[in-house]
Parts: sequence; C-alpha cells; structure tokens
Amino acid sequence: MGMRFTLAKAAGAVSTWGLRHVAHRPAANLPGKIALKVDPALLDELRGKCAEGSVITVGTNGKTSTNNLLADAFEAAGRTIICNRTGANLAAGIASALLQQPAAQWGVFECDELWLAHVLPHLRSRYVLLLNLFRDQLDRCGEIDRIQTSIAGALAASPDTVLLYNADDPLCARIADTVVNRSIPFGLDEDLKLAQNTVADAQMCQKCDGMVRYRYRQYGQLGDYFCDQCDFARPALVYAGRDIAIGAAGVTMEVCGPDGCERVHPPPPTPYAAYNLVAAYALCRETGIPTADFQRAVDAFNPRNGRLQRYRLGGRDVLLNLAKNPTGFNQNLKIVEADGGPKMVAFFINDQVADGRDISWIWDIDFEELAGAPDTVVFAGGSRAHDLAVRLKYAGIEAAVIESIDDAFARLGALTAAGHMPADAAVYAIANYTALPPVHDALDAREVAEARGAAPAAPASEGPSVAAVFGGEGGEAESRQGEGPCPAEVEAQDASRAAEPAPTSPETPAAAEPPVVIAHLLPDLLNLYGDGGNVRILEQRLRWRGLPVEVRRVEHGGTVDLDDVDLVFLGGGPDREQKLASEQLGAMRDDLAAYVEADGPLLAICGGYQILGRQWLWGDELVPGLGILDMETRRPGTSADRLIDNMVLESPLATHPVVGYENHAGRTYLGPVVEGFGRVTSPCGHGNNDDDRVEGARYRNVVGTYSHGPALSKNPEVADWLLARALERRAARTGVAAPALVPLDDTTELAANAIMVRRLTK
Ligand code: GLN
Repeated sequence: MGMRFTLAKAAGAVSTWGLRHVAHRPAANLPGKIALKVDPALLDELRGKCAEGSVITVGTNGKTSTNNLLADAFEAAGRTIICNRTGANLAAGIASALLQQPAAQWGVFECDELWLAHVLPHLRSRYVLLLNLFRDQLDRCGEIDRIQTSIAGALAASPDTVLLYNADDPLCARIADTVVNRSIPFGLDEDLKLAQNTVADAQMCQKCDGMVRYRYRQYGQLGDYFCDQCDFARPALVYAGRDIAIGAAGVTMEVCGPDGCERVHPPPPTPYAAYNLVAAYALCRETGIPTADFQRAVDAFNPRNGRLQRYRLGGRDVLLNLAKNPTGFNQNLKIVEADGGPKMVAFFINDQVADGRDISWIWDIDFEELAGAPDTVVFAGGSRAHDLAVRLKYAGIEAAVIESIDDAFARLGALTAAGHMPADAAVYAIANYTALPPVHDALDAREVAEARGAAPAAPASEGPSVAAVFGGEGGEAESRQGEGPCPAEVEAQDASRAAEPAPTSPETPAAAEPPVVIAHLLPDLLNLYGDGGNVRILEQRLRWRGLPVEVRRVEHGGTVDLDDVDLVFLGGGPDREQKLASEQLGAMRDDLAAYVEADGPLLAICGGYQILGRQWLWGDELVPGLGILDMETRRPGTSADRLIDNMVLESPLATHPVVGYENHAGRTYLGPVVEGFGRVTSPCGHGNNDDDRVEGARYRNVVGTYSHGPALSKNPEVADWLLARALERRAARTGVAAPALVPLDDTTELAANAIMVRRLTK
C-alpha cells in the first residue's frame, strides 16, 4: 500500500465531506475522480475491500434496475455489499462507492459499457453480467461493434472473470464467442409473440456475411436466431425463462437452471423485466444467493429512481420511466399503448453530452403506434422538444411543446377543467438521460406536497387549445414560454403563412392515380442513424397533399425494378453492413446508373452516399464504389478521428439554412462533374472533409449528404425538391401530369430548424 494510495484515499475522504456538508451535493463521482487522478491504480488497491469479490452489470438497457435488484437480493441473503446504487457507473462512480462505503463481502457494481475496459482489469470481478447491447449515443459510444470490441478487451484482461450473458442477443453471444472467459448463457426460451418494430440492430450475422434469421424474435434483435450461412446461432441456454405470463399484475415465469426450475415473479409487466429477472436470477444462483431471498428482493423492489416509478398524484396514476434509445423507447410505447384509457403522455428529450448530441434516433422509434390511441394528449419537452414535435407530427400526433412536467400537468388540468379529459386520466412521463432528473424531482415534489395536503404547485400556463391536443382541426402554433420566437422563427412563420398551407391531415388520394413509388434500398443494413425517417417524411408529405404513395422496402437479397420507381433512398450504416450493402448495390450498379442518368431522383445519406462514388473507406481499407458520382472517399493522412458534429449549411435547394448532423470516418472529395449539396456555414461541422467546407454532392437529381437528423426533418424545402422531381419522373413513367406541390404548414419543422440554426451559428 503506497503513498499514492494513502493520498488518494485522503483526497476522496476530504472531497466527499466537502461535497456533502459544504456544497450539499451527492458525492457520487467527484471523490472517485480526484482519487483516481492521484492514484491511477486505486481500483487495484480497493479491490480487497470486497472480501468475496465483485460482480459487474453492463449492457445498454436495464443496468441500474438489474444491479439494484441484485444488491437487494445480496442484502436479503445477509451479504454485506458495496454498491453504486445511484447509477454513477464510470470508473469514478465505482471508485467513489469503494472509497465511501465500509469493507464488505461483495461488490455489486453497474458499469458503463465503454468503461468496463477501465474497471474490470483492476477489479478482476468474479462475474460480469452482460444484459444486452443496443444502438445508443452513437456520437459518444460509436457503432456497436466498437462497444463489443471494448467489452471483449476488458474480459480478455481479466481471464478469470465468468461472463453471464444474454444469449438471445446476437451481439452479446458474439462477445462470448470471442473470449477465453468461461461464459454462461441465459435467455427466454419461449416466443412472447410481441409486436415487432421497424428498426432493429444486428440484422447481419456476427460471424460471416450472412443475415440473421429468427425462429422467433422478442424485441429489438433479441430472440432465437441463426445465421442463414454459417453456424452462428443462439447458444443453448443454461438459465432459461419459460412459461412466461406478462399481465397487468406483473410477469410470472419459471426460470430453469442447472439445478432445476423455480417459479419467480417480478412486479413490472414488461418483457424487458423478464430478461432482467432471468439475468439477476442466474447471477444469484451462481453466487449462492437462495431463491427465497431473491424473491423477497423482487417483491420489495422499489428503487424510486425514476425507472418505471409509479406515483399517485391528484387522483391520477403516474408512471415515470427512462428511455434513452430506440429500443427502450419502443418498449415504453408498448406500456403506454397497453393502457387503452384516457391518458397524457409527456416525452422529454435532451441532447447534452451524456445523452448524445445527436437525436436522429428519435426517428427510429415507432411513435406511429401511438397515433390512433383514443383520448390521448401528447406533449414534447426537453432541450430538443421541437425536434420531438416534428417527429410526432410525422407520426400523425400533434404534440404541443412544454417547458416541464409541471407545465404538462397544468395543461392537462386545463383540459380537465374544460371537460375534455377525465380527472383520473393516467399520466406517462418518458425522459432520456439528463431529462429524467428534473421530471423525477418535480414528481417527487408533487408527491411530498400532496402528502402535506398542499395543492400541487404548478406554474401559470395558458394551456393548449383543445383542438390541438386532440389532434383535431385548428392547430396551435407552439411557442416556448417565457421566450419570444427568435427572428428567424418569425420569418419562418411568416413565410409559411404567406404560402397558404394545405392541411396536414391525411387525405384520401384519388382512386385511379398511380402511386409515387419510393424504393428504400437495404433498410435492414443501412439504418443505423435514423435515416429511415427521411422515407417517413417523404411519404407523409405526399399523403398530406392527397397524393398516393407506395414505399417498397428492398431488403438484403430482394430485388426492385427501377423502371417502376420514382424516388430511391439509401441510408447510412456501420462499416460491415455498409460493405454487404455495397455488394448488393454493385449487382444493381448498371440499373442504378441508368436511373440516375435518366434524372431519377435519389437521396443518399452518409454510408449510402459514399458507396455512390468511385471508392470509399471500409475501416482502413479503400474499396471500390459504384462510380455513379464523380467523387471518392478516403482518409487524409493518418487522421483516424471521425467527423461528428451538428452543422448548418446553405444549399441552393433551400431558402432556409439546412440543419443536419454528421458522424463519419471517411472524407469525401468531389470531382468536377458534381457540385456540393451545400456549404457549411456554422463554426461547428465539417461536411465532406476537413478542408473545403463543401457538404454532400448534387448531380442531376441525386442528392448525397452526410446529414443525419434525418436530413429532411428540419429541411422541408429539400424534401419538396425531391418530391417535385419524383412527380416529374412519375409523369414521364405513367403519363399522369405532375401536379404542383401544394405548400404545407411547415411551422413545426421551421421552428425546430430556426432553434438549431440560432444555437449553432451564434
Ligand atoms: N461507415 C461510414 C463512415 O464512417 C458511414 C457511416 C455513416 O453512415 N454514418 O465513414
């Protein structure tokens, strides 16, 4: 035990005391951070504080809940533990817990996926519990293969650690495949027959160039899978949930392990609770925690940390939950949809560093499922509330922008007072990472106020017009309370008013008119960055104008005759999927080139855009592209940094600034035959490369761009430019004259645009 360790411990103790007693703040992170600075080997030294060793829970979704359940089970069984219960899950949070809590039998820690590599080699934990891996914070974490590599590296550095992993997740199973550690698979051995969502991860085999097929799929990429080309398949489960019943009262199931089967029942009625339950059960069995103690912990589980937290406020049932990625959100929507009664749903999306600056992923959520729900009032909150309102609008949901959950309650109260919502309508609040604590605090404060008999505090709010929140006629122009619209917004609103917009309610298209056909090429491979939202947008903007539209999803192995197509879309994707996609597109190369030369409109984003050039960068290797656009993608010098940022462009295709988000490794250089899609005008963002501030490419009716966001969500003029070209193509193809595009009410889109322009260019 060296001098550094003694100093580090002292620094941790002093900073803990200062934070708690002087600053009155929780000391969950900073003391560990300081102590780790003083002694980088701190975790090695502190390992001995857990006499019997430690367990670490990792995974994208469910870490905090599962780890806290484990902690409760260990305690119920009489074990003493050290635990980072508040969810401070970087090395600093784990170090803080180890510094602050007395020596114990076990350490029970949750750890951020990318931080496992900094924690596990030092703690050399007995078990790592790997729950799942989903796309999440792509700007911070990178694509999922990076996380897999990092977790595998952490396990390799701690070879005695046993890996307990969700074998229903091909991404977790692949990690188990590649490490020397002893590994124990768990999963659900029964088809839950759940409704599926549009976007899922890991559709390509983890071992070869095949595609993953399913005997059944539960949600996301979880299920009983196999590769259509190699031996990659779900491993035989050692711990398996069976005979599963999910109902309003909770989940019941039998969990079978090496020693037989036992019946357990967690309270929250969600499929992902069933996974977390099997995971926690398996770890308890492995570490000798008796099932009776585990069950007691499950029965009493009430962490009150905003994860599936229930309140009873003002006679209403309120459910608060965290959702920070498409899979989590889609599962939350299933909970909301299961409630067929009157309800208010308030979504909150922030874009701080901890959330990910990029919120393109909200377009991978199937909000459309909520559109038909009766008596449902939806609100959009958080720092990207306006983007959320745009997303909801395209899902057919009119959502007013709110300042806070109290604002939402005030608006709901106004609706109730006016007789439009029952007094006992349920409330659902769903928030991403940094958006959750303020909502949680406000709900807690309401609970305390009610317990004291005080009327719940609510800020003055005018409340929305009733027609707006019920998605009926009329429509309310949103405004951020306490803040007038910025000049650009006023301009935007004036412009859209002058244009006499068409109503944005679905119209019934004339029966005989042939549909505008949009081919979405390889949505199963090129779908990582919310780009499929562009197709949702193009489709809706036709529907709103009463024009018939047909979207053809051309999945891997599928075919399409481009002679029948009016608009082609290609999204972005991770390198492996991009390579497989480029092979299939290579087989279609001549048809695609002919389509482009015949002025067929095509929108290609990031990875899809790169493939259209002569060559592109696959990892570190240059590979041939389709050569349809006069451009190439390479990496200048040895720079390995990805270009990741928000950006604002000026583009000849739009009178408003174009707003997007880039996340790419390759640098693209245009030849003389193509022009840029735009020029980057914001201080942030790069565009095609590090040098010329040109963004994307235009050639005939092709638009290639690095903009995610998705590209068209805040840039309706670009969407309409493409649609005008598609209508011309349909006219040439079918003889039906191209109608002029009736202007739409783009107030919501342009408000979201103006806010980002103001934020990024000031
Ligand atoms: N894999 C490509 C790159 O990083 C494209 C990524 C993307 O589509 N966002 O350059």
